[in-house]
Parts: sequence; structure tokens; C-alpha cells
Amino acid sequence: MLEELDMRLAAFRWLAEKEASGRAAFSGRELAEGFLYKNRRITLKGQTGIWFPQGFSMPISITTRLNGPYKLDSFNSDRTWTYAYRGTDPDHRDNRGLREAMRTRTPLIYFIEIYNHFYQAVWPLIIIQDFPNSLCVKAMVEPAYKDLRPGFLMADVIESPMDVRRYVTVETRRRLHQNAFRELVIHAYDEHCAICNLHHPGLLDAAHIIGDTEEEGIPIINNGLSLCKIHHAAYDQNFIGIDQDYLVHVRSDILEERDGPMLKHGLQELEGWNIRTPQRRSDKPDPGRLAQRFKAFLSA
Ligand SMILES: [Zn+2]
Repeated sequence: MLEELDMRLAAFRWLAEKEASGRAAFSGRELAEGFLYKNRRITLKGQTGIWFPQGFSMPISITTRLNGPYKLDSFNSDRTWTYAYRGTDPDHRDNRGLREAMRTRTPLIYFIEIYNHFYQAVWPLIIIQDFPNSLCVKAMVEPAYKDLRPGFLMADVIESPMDVRRYVTVETRRRLHQNAFRELVIHAYDEHCAICNLHHPGLLDAAHIIGDTEEEGIPIINNGLSLCKIHHAAYDQNFIGIDQDYLVHVRSDILEERDGPMLKHGLQELEGWNIRTPQRRSDKPDPGRLAQRFKAFLSA
């Protein structure tokens, strides 16, 4: 059992290291491959939503697949997630595994699919309530399990007060949504700047056309533009505007300036340029939002 806990913590560290290097989403394939722990392969996710790596007595992760364009997860007003059982038998091994994780206060990982086979990860997640009649459990983030070292004893863990859990859960979810917006928008543009076509994800941002007001639900891709750092800043500061026909306009005083190659090629020559848009019609920038934003550019 102790070994299983250590492997679980190793999984948290594996995710933390990837996240520290700037990763916001994980492919299903790399999660299924997992990592090596003392020459033993630990898989983080498999075919089923409630996942037990080989030899584990309790699940290591639960996964929510993308089930609708505006719903990333099932979040409740009491700042908890609801997670549905597997099937309708409360005594199915997977569902018993959730109950056992709750009883033993064992932290899990929550994977939320944001686009085809790409997942965001939330951890350490604990199951706080079981509802066998409604065939679901409730879960929250428990920060007390975040930085445990191998060999720790469960009995030594001091759990966080409920208000701390609520706060951390809400903050975690807010960050997930921001990251999801970035991932989804940049992915929709095939990792290119919509204006100059630059193809380096590390230099790209997801810019909002109309300021971020999405509190709930999935951020809307058609309110976003994948832009390189320079063009994001230039768009936000109204050096450039994009009209509802997807044409780039450069502010007149900028057009008249004389300076080096960045100004010339990076801004002035874009006048009249057609922006790159996503393949999927529903992902293309919303003309109504562009027009509204373009007004602000014209009056700048
Ligand atoms: Zn650019």
C-alpha cells in the first residue's frame, strides 16, 4: 500500500514537472504510456474513465470526455465537481474504487478532455461524498496532498479546512479555463499567428476579440485569435485592427512612420492583409465581435 502511495506521488511529480515546463494539456497517448517508476510502468489513463494502473488497488485517475461544445466539466455551486459512476451498478469494481479512495482519503488525478484526445490535469483531487442512489461522487482539490514526499504517512497529513479547499478548487478551475482557451485557440489555428503566420507555439498567445467575460463553461474559440506576442500587443493597443471581413488595417499614424524592419515588415506591410482563420467554421472569428472591436480601433 505504501508503495502504491509513493507511485501515486511520483505520478503527481511527473505531471508537475511537465506543467512547470509550460505544458497545459496532455495527449491521451502519453498518459496511456505514463512513466517508469523503479523499472515499473505506471499508466495514468486507460480506456475506462476510472483508471487503475496494473496492480493498483485504487484508481489513479478519473477522466471526463468532451461531451458538448460548451461543457468542460460538471461543476456545482458548492465548488465541487460531480463525477458519474461507471454504469449503473454501484458495486462495480471501478465505483467501489472511488468509494475506497474516499474512505482512505487517497488523492487522484482528474483528466478533463479539452479537444480530441487532449486533456487537462487536476490534482490532488479527493472524493468527498458518495451518492450511490444518484450514481455519482463529488470531488474537490485538496492542496494538503500537493507536495508530499515519498514515505509519508497518511495519518500525518493535515487536511485543509473546507473554505481553503473551495478556494483552491475555484482557482484551479479558473486557471484551467484560461489554459483551455489558450490551448483551444492556438490549436484551432494549427499553431500559427493569424496575422503573420509565425509557427512557433512558444511565441503565440490566444488573444480575446472582446474582453474575457466567460466565467462558466468553455471559453469560446470564435472570440479568440491566435496571435504572436508582437501582434497580440499591437492588436490590444490598436496599432492594428481586423475588420469583419478578416482584413488587417494598420493605424494611419503607424503607416506614416519610418523605422527599421520590424515596423516595415512586421506592421506596415500587413495593411490589407487577409488573416489566417481556422478550418472549422464554428471556430472562425465571429464577425459581430470583430466589428464591435474594430469600432474601437477606428476611434483610436
Ligand atoms: Zn504575428
